[in-house]
Amino acid sequence: MEFDESHYVTGYLRERGFVRRKCRVCGKHFWTLDPERDNCNEAPCVPYEFIGNAPTNRSFTLDGMRDAFIGFFEEHDHTPIDPYPVVPRWRRDLFLVSASIVDFQPHVTSGLMEPPANPLVVSQPCIRLVDVDKVGLTLGRHMTVFEMGGAHAFNFPGREVYWKDRTVELCSRFLERLGVKEEEVVYKEGVWSGGGNAGPCFEVNVRGLEVATLVFMSYRVADGRLEELPVRTVDTGYGIERFTWLSNGTPTAFEVVYADVIPKASELLGRYELDREFLMGYGRYSAWIQPGGEVTVAEARRRAAELAGVELDAVLPQLEALERFYAALDYSKSIAFILSEGVVPSNTKVGYLARLLIRRLHRTLTHLNAQDRILDLLDLQLNHWGRRFRQLLEARDDVLELVDYEVRRFAETLEKGRQHLERTLRELKARGGAVTTETMIRLYDERGLPPDLVREVAGKLGVRVEAPENVQEIVASMHMSEAQREEVQDPREARARELIRGLPQTERLYYLDQYRTEFESRVLAAADGMVVLEATCFYPEGGGQVADTGVIRHGRGECRVLDVQSYDGVIVHFVEGVLPEPGEVVRGEVDRERRLSIMRHHTATHILIGTVRRVLGRHAWQMGARKEEGRARLDVSHHRPLTPEDVARIERVANEVVARRLPVEVRWYDRHEAERLFGFTLYQGGEAPAGQVRVVNIPGWDAEACGGTHCANTSEVGFIKIIGTEKIADGVVRLEYAAGPAALSYVQSRISELEERAERSERSEREVSTFAEKLFRSMEAEDPSDPSRHVEYLRAHYAAAARYWMAFRRYQKEEDVEGVRVIFDFVQTRNQMVVEEMLQQVTSVQVPAAVLLVRSSGRKLEFWLSLNRQALSSGLSPPSLVDELRSWRQDVRIEASERTLRGEVESAKVGDLYGAVVGAIRKVRSR
Ligand SMILES: [Zn+2]
Ligand SMILES: [Zn+2]
Repeated sequence: MEFDESHYVTGYLRERGFVRRKCRVCGKHFWTLDPERDNCNEAPCVPYEFIGNAPTNRSFTLDGMRDAFIGFFEEHDHTPIDPYPVVPRWRRDLFLVSASIVDFQPHVTSGLMEPPANPLVVSQPCIRLVDVDKVGLTLGRHMTVFEMGGAHAFNFPGREVYWKDRTVELCSRFLERLGVKEEEVVYKEGVWSGGGNAGPCFEVNVRGLEVATLVFMSYRVADGRLEELPVRTVDTGYGIERFTWLSNGTPTAFEVVYADVIPKASELLGRYELDREFLMGYGRYSAWIQPGGEVTVAEARRRAAELAGVELDAVLPQLEALERFYAALDYSKSIAFILSEGVVPSNTKVGYLARLLIRRLHRTLTHLNAQDRILDLLDLQLNHWGRRFRQLLEARDDVLELVDYEVRRFAETLEKGRQHLERTLRELKARGGAVTTETMIRLYDERGLPPDLVREVAGKLGVRVEAPENVQEIVASMHMSEAQREEVQDPREARARELIRGLPQTERLYYLDQYRTEFESRVLAAADGMVVLEATCFYPEGGGQVADTGVIRHGRGECRVLDVQSYDGVIVHFVEGVLPEPGEVVRGEVDRERRLSIMRHHTATHILIGTVRRVLGRHAWQMGARKEEGRARLDVSHHRPLTPEDVARIERVANEVVARRLPVEVRWYDRHEAERLFGFTLYQGGEAPAGQVRVVNIPGWDAEACGGTHCANTSEVGFIKIIGTEKIADGVVRLEYAAGPAALSYVQSRISELEERAERSERSEREVSTFAEKLFRSMEAEDPSDPSRHVEYLRAHYAAAARYWMAFRRYQKEEDVEGVRVIFDFVQTRNQMVVEEMLQQVTSVQVPAAVLLVRSSGRKLEFWLSLNRQALSSGLSPPSLVDELRSWRQDVRIEASERTLRGEVESAKVGDLYGAVVGAIRKVRSR
C-alpha cells in the first residue's frame, strides 16, 4: 500500500517553506526546511544526535512531560480524558491496547457513536509484546509498556473539527513549546494501517529519534481495496517516554523513565552500571541492535562500537547485565498493568501473553541471579505506578498472589521440562539436525520451555541453532493474530438471512416488560420452518442466555417455537408445525415457567459474578456463562481449583445478596456514560456491540452490559445452590449452580438420598413438621462409611436451607418499635449454626432490625436476640438490653456476644418474653 505525494501536501508545511526530499538511505520521502538534507532524520538512517545534545530548552521527567503534553493540547481546545484500561474488554479482536486510537475503535471511528469529547487528548498506557525481544538491547527505543499521548479529532460528515494542516501545525507548535526548532524537525511520509483501517501518516523525527506519528485515518481496507470512511480521524501518537528521553539526551531512555524506581530496584537486583563514555558513544547507534534483523545482535553490536569508536569486548558482560536490568524493569511494569486489570496467566487469550511476560521476566532475573526478588520487584512497580494509576495499588495483593503462584508453577515446568529438552537436543545432534524456529515454538507452547533456555542448553550441548534471535516476538505475534479469527457460522444462518432480507428490525417486547410472555403481532415472513414477526416476546439466544420456547397460534393452527435467533436485529423464530400466513396477526405464548426459571438463573449469574470478584479476588473475570432453565454455569478466571471453603463462602455471600432484596435495575446508557459510571467490568459478559449499552445493575454489587432478561429483585432468585465446580482450563474454573425452585429440588433430592442412607443405617426419622426442620434433623444422620464428608456436606445445605426457610417465611410477628424493626419467630432447632443462619437471614434487611427467635421445650424458653449493623449503629447493643431483661426477671440466664445474646428462662410465657424485649428496646432507644 502506498499513497502518492498529494496525500502529504499540506498548506501548513508549504507556507512554512518545507520541501519534499528523499532519504538516501531508506529511500522514503520526507519534508524538511533544509533543502540540503539527504536523510530522513530517523535512526538507523542516522545515529541519535540528541544523546548528550538535547534539542529542548530543558529536561523533563516522565510526569512533567505528560503534563506538558496534556496541558498544551488542553490550551488548544482539546478536552483531556482519563486513560482506558490496557486490556480492551470492549473489543473482541484485540488482547491488549497497543495505541490510544484503540480506545475509540470501532464504535467511534466507524461513526456508530460520538466520542467522549471532540477533539480530545489522552495519555494512554499501551502494551506491545511484538517488541519483547528488543527491550533493553535498544536502550529504550522499544518498551513493552509505554504511554502514548493521543490527540484525536473525529471529523463526522458535515462536522469538520480539523484535518491535516492543523494536525501538523499543532505538532510543530508543541515541539516549539519544548524548545525544538522547526529546522530540526523532519516529517517523514508513511503509511499506517491497523484494525481494518488505513491512511497516510507523518513520522515526526528529531535528531534521529521518531517522537510522534500523525495518522490521517481515512480508509477502510476491504478485499485489498481502499474505501473512504465516513468519519475521518486524526490519530496522533506522541511517545511520552520518547519525548522525555529526547529532552534529557541520556544514552538510555530507561534511566529517565524509571529514574525514581532504579535506586530501589538496584537494592533488589544489584547495581548495574557502565562506563558513561562508552554508553554515550555506543548509545548513538543502539537503534541498530535489533534481534531478528539482517545481522545478528553480536554483529550489530560490533559495528555500533566501531562507529562510536569505543571498546566493546571489555564491557560486554556489564552491557548485557545492564540491558537485562532495564528489560526487567519494563517487563515487571507491563505485568503490573496487565494483571491489575483482572487477567489470570493461562494458555489462552490475554492470559497467554501475561504468562509469556512473567516467564520472560523470571528468565531475565535468573540471568541476573535475582529470580527470588521477582515479587519484591513487582511490589515496587505496583507502588510506584500505582500513585498515578490507582488500579495498580488496589490490585496489589491480587497481582502478587497471581505472580507468586505462576512463578512456582513455572519452576516446576522448567524442572520437568529440562530432561525432555536435553533428550530432544541430543537426538537432534545425533541426527545432525539443528534447532529451528518451529522447534522453539513447539518447546515453548507444549513444554513451557522459553527460547533463551533452549538456546542456552543447545549451546552447552553443541547443537546448532537456526532460528532468529526474536523467537519470542514471533510466538507473541502468532498468538495475537488468533484474536482476529472468525467464529464458525451457524448453518441455518444463510437461509435465515435470505428470508429477512429487507425486513425491519424486530420490536423487542421482552425489553419493555421482562415478565410478559403473551403477545400479538403481525407476521412479516414465514417460510422453511422460520417465522419473522413485527414484534416478539421470544428472547433470542444471546449473551449466554438460551432462547425461549413456546407456541405461535394463528388462523390455520399453531406452530411450536423451538429456537430463536437474532440476525442484525431481526429476530427469527425457528418453528415446527403449521406456518402462519405473512400479513396475519398471530398470538405468541412463551413457555412461562421455563422463561422465569431462566431469568432467575441469569440474575443469579450476575449475583455470582459480583460474588466471585469479592471472594476470589479482582482477577476473577467472567470467561463464559450459560443460563438455562434448570441450571446455569459460569466460567471465571482463577489460577487454582476452588476449595470447599471457597465454594461455601461464595454460596453464602451470594445468598446474602439474594436475601438483601436488592433491586435489579435495567437502563440504557450512552456508552461513555456507562463506562464512566460503572467501569470496564461492565464488559464481563463480552464486548457490547453498539453506542448505547443496556446496563443491568444490582446497585452496589454488580453492573454489566447485558441484553438478557432479569428478575426485578434479587429476592426473586430465592436461593442459589452451587452444584459443582471444576477447573476447565488452565486459569479458568467453572461453577455450576441452580437457582430458585430448581435449587430447591436439587437440595431436596440430595436430602432424600441422605435420609434413605440414614434409614439404612437404622436411625428412624422422627416426625417432622416443616421442610427446614426435616433438614435440620437430617444433620443428625451419619454416614458410617465417611462421616466427616457427610457432616461437611450437610453443613453446606443446612446453612442454605435455613436462610431459604427464613426468606420465605411469614414471621410470627413483625412490628416497628421506636424505628427498629422487631421480628419475632419460633424455631425448632437449638443447633447454634442453624440459628445463626436464621438470625443472619432475618437481620439482613436494610433498616435497623432486632430479631427474636424462641424455642420452647416444656416449661423452658430458649431465645436468641440479634441486632443487625444498622441497629447497632443506632445505639442499641446486646449489653444494654441484657440489663433491661435482667430487671424483667432476675432468674433469666443470658450470654451476650457482639451482635447476639442468647438466653434461657424457666416457666415463662412467650408473650411475656416478647413484651420484655420490646420494652427493653423502647427503654434503650428513649435514652
Ligand atoms: Zn531514511
Ligand atoms: Zn447478563
